[in-house]
Amino acid sequence: MLRLAIQKSGRLSEDSLALIRECGISFISSSYKLKTEATNFPLEILFLRDDDIPGYVQDGVADLGIVGQNVLVEAGYPNLEVEALGFSKCRLSLAVPRAASYDSVESLQGKNIATSYPTILGRYLAGHGVQANLHTISGSVEIAPSIGLAEAICDIVSSGSTLLGNGLREVETVFRSEAVLIAQPNLSAEQTELLEQLRFRMQAVRRAKR
Ligand code: ATP
Ligand code: ZN
Repeated sequence: MLRLAIQKSGRLSEDSLALIRECGISFISSSYKLKTEATNFPLEILFLRDDDIPGYVQDGVADLGIVGQNVLVEAGYPNLEVEALGFSKCRLSLAVPRAASYDSVESLQGKNIATSYPTILGRYLAGHGVQANLHTISGSVEIAPSIGLAEAICDIVSSGSTLLGNGLREVETVFRSEAVLIAQPNLSAEQTELLEQLRFRMQAVRRAKR
């Protein structure tokens, strides 16, 4: 038996459920249940907040998970990744107010930057020799400059319209992300065999879509 954790409700949920179904796995899902068991594969599905998924898989509470690389790397468990899934593609970008002067990352030296991704951003800035004050906030990061909390932000961007709507312009791509399958490090031999079957099916689903 394998326990797979997926996002309960959010941008990963629909594609995660669709992928499992396209792998030929049947289950009944309802919006208020926190777990369900597949009827034709030894798989139990847990519905969780995406931020909790890497930790649960690292600890073996769940055997597998589907989560964005952004959340996985921020949580500090990049090694859990076993398969890139090709959906929920997005990027983590730095943005500044439209009128602010900006030449390069060095322009952020000594500035206040609001983000939900202090680990990924901190590493990026250190790689460019830039020291900044990171303010970690969990949501509505785009409003930080307009309320005087920060001179720049680092947040998830897909189309850029949210940035535009808040008077911001994107200046650097810090990290590119997509959804990935992750697995706990201590699977049994039988579980490893099931994981390989699952990966084989997932790869076939992706090939069929190309
Ligand atoms: P939860 O309530 O589970 O904590 P959340 O609000 O943190 O959810 P979502 O906004 O549902 O998260 O995003 C989940 C993941 O989907 C992100 O971590 C990222 O990997 C990806 N994602 C976020 N925004 C986009 C987007 N605009 N386009 C594509 N993928 C995105
Ligand atoms: Zn989340």
